[in-house]
Amino acid sequence: MNQQKTLTKEEQYLSRRVNSVQESQTMQITGKAKKMQGEGLDVVSLSAGEPDFPTPDFVSAAGIKAINDNFTKYTINSGILELRKAISEKFKRDNNLTYTPDQIIVSNGGKQSIANIFMALLNEGDEVIIQAPYWVSYPEMAHLCDAVAVIIDSDIDSDFKITPAQLEAAITPKTKLFVFNSPSNPTGTVYSEQEIRDLMAVLVGKDIFIISDEIYEHLIYDTVRHFSPASIKELYEQIITVNGVSKAYSMTGWRIGYAAGPKWIIDASGKIQSQTTSNPCSISQKASVAALNGDHGVVENMKAEFLKRRDFMYNELNQIPGIKVNKPEGAFYMLVSVQELMGKTIDGIEMKTSADLATYLLDKYLLATVPGDAFGAEGYLRLSYADSLENLGKAVERLKKAVS
Ligand code: PLP
Repeated sequence: MNQQKTLTKEEQYLSRRVNSVQESQTMQITGKAKKMQGEGLDVVSLSAGEPDFPTPDFVSAAGIKAINDNFTKYTINSGILELRKAISEKFKRDNNLTYTPDQIIVSNGGKQSIANIFMALLNEGDEVIIQAPYWVSYPEMAHLCDAVAVIIDSDIDSDFKITPAQLEAAITPKTKLFVFNSPSNPTGTVYSEQEIRDLMAVLVGKDIFIISDEIYEHLIYDTVRHFSPASIKELYEQIITVNGVSKAYSMTGWRIGYAAGPKWIIDASGKIQSQTTSNPCSISQKASVAALNGDHGVVENMKAEFLKRRDFMYNELNQIPGIKVNKPEGAFYMLVSVQELMGKTIDGIEMKTSADLATYLLDKYLLATVPGDAFGAEGYLRLSYADSLENLGKAVERLKKAVS
């Protein structure tokens, strides 16, 4: 919710809209950790929101070829047909979803895809249902549209899952959107097909739209399988499926994401994009065609590496007193509970909040984590395992020392 606060002189000149938005805390802590690393300090950062692997060579080669071919001009606003066809085929192949290229828009990352849809659908006062712990940008994007973020809480004891009854209870006549994210950032939680069917059944026939953010689709471990809610026939017309190449192909800097859904929503989203940014980068579009049509082995290799790290982190963290963990089945994050440590005094510093603990870990132990309040989850820390096993080993040792 937008908070009343005393505005600085500068803030009084700024719009109400921008004053209602919080700066991303993940970016803040990553920035501080990078600055410390720049000063020569041996900081281990578990704050990253991106894979640590290089972009696959064949993908980069397609980008270089685009430059050499002078494919460096504006493209059609919604993205080149070749890419939208590759995305359409990807949806059929991976998700059993039929989206024609004119039901697809390519944007500057999944982030812009989601922001476009928010702007296309939301009026002042409309309500957006968001599950906490959430990806930091969902509530802030709602604020940017003068809409209201309605938060449903979940915790580690329920593996960060909400129930159909909780969803039902959050709905009001003002509800316009429900944002669903599986696998989740920041929890790594993956809902099963049956859990998704049960949850989504609540929304059938209602004037509520659903954004299904599937950006971590390919990073799922164990036996649970990814399931796209839009493949539920009764809900196809209510759902916008968002995905991108950032996480699956380690292409965060190329900035390519996409949304698919009812043509009228995609067209509206295109209108917003055409008047704000126009097409996403032409070179990145060509590289994304190569990624989506290329050998999926590169994704599998990355996933195998992440699985080793997930298991390492889970086993090690499980043994640290004061820290409670669950076993996330997807993405590359763990949201660990540090509730037991709250209120305790460590090294003469009282740990009132998880931000106090995160600051202490960074300042005293050169370990960067992200405090849970950034995700609507006070009492938790997000640890990203998108780093080498060697660095994860160091991180665990530092954490052990710090809290022992
Ligand atoms: N959705 C979630 C849950 C994310 O964690 C991110 C990135 O961190 C995005 C969407 C957007 O990714 P991008 O804009 O790089 O496609």
